[in-house]
Amino acid sequence: MQSYRGEGFYERLGVRPVINAWSWVTVAGGSIMPAPALRAMEEASRHFVDMHELNRRAGEVIARVTGAEAGLVTAGSGAGMLLQAAACMAGTDPAKVWRLPDTRGMKNRIVIHRAHRVSYDRNFRAAGARLVEIGDTGATERWELEDAITSKTAAAAYVFGPRKGGALPLETVVEAAHERGVPVIVDAAAMLPPAENLTKYIRAGADLVSFSGGKGVMGPQSTGILCGRKDLIEAAAMNAAPNSQGIGRPAKVSKENIAGLIAALELFVDTDHEAVAASWRSKCEYIVEALRGIESVRAELAEAMPGLEDSRSGHARALVFLESAWRGPSEAEVISRLREGDPPIYLGPAGPEGGIAVVPVNLRDGEEEIVAGRLREILTEESSS
Ligand SMILES: *Cc1c(COP(=O)(O)O)cnc(C)c1O
Repeated sequence: MQSYRGEGFYERLGVRPVINAWSWVTVAGGSIMPAPALRAMEEASRHFVDMHELNRRAGEVIARVTGAEAGLVTAGSGAGMLLQAAACMAGTDPAKVWRLPDTRGMKNRIVIHRAHRVSYDRNFRAAGARLVEIGDTGATERWELEDAITSKTAAAAYVFGPRKGGALPLETVVEAAHERGVPVIVDAAAMLPPAENLTKYIRAGADLVSFSGGKGVMGPQSTGILCGRKDLIEAAAMNAAPNSQGIGRPAKVSKENIAGLIAALELFVDTDHEAVAASWRSKCEYIVEALRGIESVRAELAEAMPGLEDSRSGHARALVFLESAWRGPSEAEVISRLREGDPPIYLGPAGPEGGIAVVPVNLRDGEEEIVAGRLREILTEESSS
């Protein structure tokens, strides 16, 4: 069983470890690296290397596991989006690379579905791109995309986030954009697992695809994976560290982080994902079972639905709903009381429709019992008073 007093480093800093029932969210620490990734980082830390050579070799591993022509380790999917935009606008022209985010003389528009707007798309703008929105939350027509593409269009973006609906299928965007000579850039930060997604969007024709390295892949939290067309990866690399003139220079990736990400990625590809998914599901079942019989509280298991292409449904979750007759604390109060407890438990809302989600992907063995016990305590104390 874990200790939550905080040992060693965290204790010295006075930082309290928390139980993460929230998912691979950045503010809760992303993921816990497996031992082989930590070992690779330690090994990488002992020698100097030529960073260009290290980037190239790491890129070859990414290309192999994604089926893309080329790859690059980034400082997260957010940095990947910045480099996607920079690559599509400036290419490998050193004058243009230097000029970003000033995009004079460049194609600088990125077409994006209104249903795909997420806070992270500010990374496209950070490179100097202007976003051109199409569609609405209910539907998007192919002609809207075609009409939005002009001689100024640098790329068409496709974001797999929490699914809002109403976007064209990726295949349609690829077809329409490619007919007009426009590359398609995909943000699939939180879409791993399922592992099939490593190759899926490239197979669908996307020109650049970006994933987080510190979410489901369980690499260093500040890493990401960019893969795609050889010329565009070359352009992304030119806009990135170690090139000190690139707009991506502040998103530097260390040799240790490159090593940790590549080791984690190789492990991820070799993982028995069915067994992992089954253990996640059984933690959720435990929680649902433990909350049975509380009046006006409905706990249910949400099965994994990877086909939905929603960043929340790649794995099972336990959802807790407080029904209309409920008189106890609100969902927000339950969430904040869990955070204030000992050990603190971090989790979040299930979605816009309400409910609390217990996400099992970062629960260590046995933590489901702590989470279920605390939830039961909070939900029974108040409702009986
Ligand atoms: C997490 C996330 C990002 C950012 O990824 P980082 O690897 O943390 O930089 C971008 N887009 C979406 C949809 C995400 O969920």
